[in-house]
Amino acid sequence: MTMTRRDFLSAFSALAAAPALCARAWGAPLPREADIVVIGAGAAGIAAARRIMAANRRVIVVEAAGQVGGRCRTDTVTFDVPFDRGARWMHNPDTNPMIKLARNTGLDISPVPLGQKIRIGRRNARAGETEEFLAALVRANRAFDEASRGKSDVACASVLPKDLGSWAGTVEFVLGANATGKDLKDISVIDKARAQERNAAIACRQGLGTLIAKLGEQVPLTLSTPASRISWSGRDVTVDTPAGKIAARAAIITVSSNVLTAGNIKFTPDIPKRQLDAAAKLSLGSYDRIALQLPGNPLGLARDDLIIEQSASTRTALLLANIGGSSLCSIDVAGSFGRELAAQGEPAMVAFAVEWLGKLFGSEAASAVKKSSATRWDAAPFALGAMSSAAPGAQPSRKILTEPIGCMFLAGEATHETLWGTVDGAWDSGERAAEAALRRIGALRYEPVGAPAPGAKRRRHPAPARSAGAPIN
Ligand SMILES: Cc1cc2nc3c(=O)[nH]c(=O)nc-3n(C[C@H](O)[C@H](O)[C@H](O)COP(=O)(O)OP(=O)(O)OC[C@H]3O[C@@H](n4cnc5c(N)ncnc54)[C@H](O)[C@@H]3O)c2cc1C
Repeated sequence: MTMTRRDFLSAFSALAAAPALCARAWGAPLPREADIVVIGAGAAGIAAARRIMAANRRVIVVEAAGQVGGRCRTDTVTFDVPFDRGARWMHNPDTNPMIKLARNTGLDISPVPLGQKIRIGRRNARAGETEEFLAALVRANRAFDEASRGKSDVACASVLPKDLGSWAGTVEFVLGANATGKDLKDISVIDKARAQERNAAIACRQGLGTLIAKLGEQVPLTLSTPASRISWSGRDVTVDTPAGKIAARAAIITVSSNVLTAGNIKFTPDIPKRQLDAAAKLSLGSYDRIALQLPGNPLGLARDDLIIEQSASTRTALLLANIGGSSLCSIDVAGSFGRELAAQGEPAMVAFAVEWLGKLFGSEAASAVKKSSATRWDAAPFALGAMSSAAPGAQPSRKILTEPIGCMFLAGEATHETLWGTVDGAWDSGERAAEAALRRIGALRYEPVGAPAPGAKRRRHPAPARSAGAPIN
């Protein structure tokens, strides 16, 4: 049976390098001053810089990596079609300002009509079995919602219904690792219940990394320039990089929660323990893609078919087949299983993917692999993981990260209360931090917290809108 589009998208939409054209020319001197300096050229950093430019203030973005995009990174070299190594879908097209901007870039932005199936061994699930699975998802989500209204925050796993039978492992995978990069035992039930639904999959045919680079084209930025130290006060800030120092009146720091807590950037004085503890409680989960080029469609699947299996455990994966009509397929692994697998290296990841496909589709699939590539986000030095999720008890940490630290403002997906773990949330957080920084330097008038800046079309953080029982990603 094919599920309804809404049910399945709700269940699976989670989870899914382009050059910076305005990057500082090689050898050109680093600007010594800006009104606001932005650390990181991922979605949050580019959104922040664009907002500052719209307010006619001087901004410079310093980026450690050699390309724009951060955890949105499109590999245009390995295969004959773009491969999104990080995020691949945007969500919520009716309310997502990033999608509106994306549509004006000239890139090809369109919904992905996902085909959605569950395998039980070598066959597709029957209608009744799919209904059972969907009912199990509804019950699990309802349990999370109810528990989130309780006195204390607990782990999602502790309230998962015990009688999900043969669907327990699949439900755990879909709602835990696949949605957030962490297992349900490591996820706050309040954080999970507060997450806004990601209700559609909107892709950029040229890749989401390409899109972020395009949106950053006019932004003054410098690549391969890691911030090594930030000296800050309530009045101004100095950022040390290998290319020199930049003085500014405010800074926006968009590095991931894991990069922040790893201490790769030194702060003088130290960043307050309150924010550092909050970031530690919002550590990144593990999520990786194993891409296989399978010419001739040996799996017999349609364009953009999305497949999971009935699994007795979370040692499983998510397949997106024939991406965009190509012969590229990605097998996504996540959570503690994905972390252990990725730690073993790319050959072990590819071997797992091939074996898993063989189990579900027969051994011809295994012998059809022409080319492969796997991401290892936990080991990527400027990300150190995939996406944040709150440890049990830690949902308030997201708000703590939005508090100003002198003239520094944190942004990035981890700082978003309802769209954490997404590009959309990262973008929104960058705009929010930019407005706070602009107010700080007197470029916007002070407004009550949460009030929109004049002319700004920033999304509010709505109460979670979830269809009954729909998972968040
Ligand atoms: C495999 C995978 C699949 C995903 N799928 C989806 C999806 O389909 N849809 C979705 O919405 N989200 C998805 N996500 C999550 C999404 O990618 C992130 O939420 C989002 O891209 C985070 O953006 P950000 O700007 O907050 O952080 P980042 O993208 O991490 O940006 C931070 C930037 O800071 C830079 N930096 C780090 N250290 C320094 C330093 N010392 N100096 C200067 N710069 C520094 C980094 O290089 C990086 O460019 C996925 C993530 C992964 C890993």
